[in-house]
Amino acid sequence: MIARCPHCGKKLKINDKLTGKRGACPACKKPFAIPPVPAKPPQGQKPAKTPPPPPAPLSQSANIAQPAPPTTPPKATDSYQQSQTLLELKAKLKQLQELKNEGLISNGDFETKKKEILDKIMEV
Ligand SMILES: [Zn+2]
Repeated sequence: MIARCPHCGKKLKINDKLTGKRGACPACKKPFAIPPVPAKPPQGQKPAKTPPPPPAPLSQSANIAQPAPPTTPPKATDSYQQSQTLLELKAKLKQLQELKNEGLISNGDFETKKKEILDKIMEV
């Protein structure tokens, strides 16, 4: 076993048979009581290990590891353009609705235009 000299602090390798007795430190020659061997864990059972630290929250470590990428405008992919078109068509539809509500266009005009826009939306 390994004991530490209480006088000089030197680490001493001590014969297990001498534990619990008095000995003399080979370094400083001063006598000291050799502590008894600590109770060994029962065989077949591993000594308790210090549990690993809990994993850091993913979001936090991710933020530290890789800073958020700069926000870039979305690329003009097909789906993006499609959704843009859809939004535009919807806006037009709303405009048309307003025009009709204000009596600026007739019901017939509204229905005609609405069908045109809806047809386009269906194409998208
Ligand atoms: Zn010593």
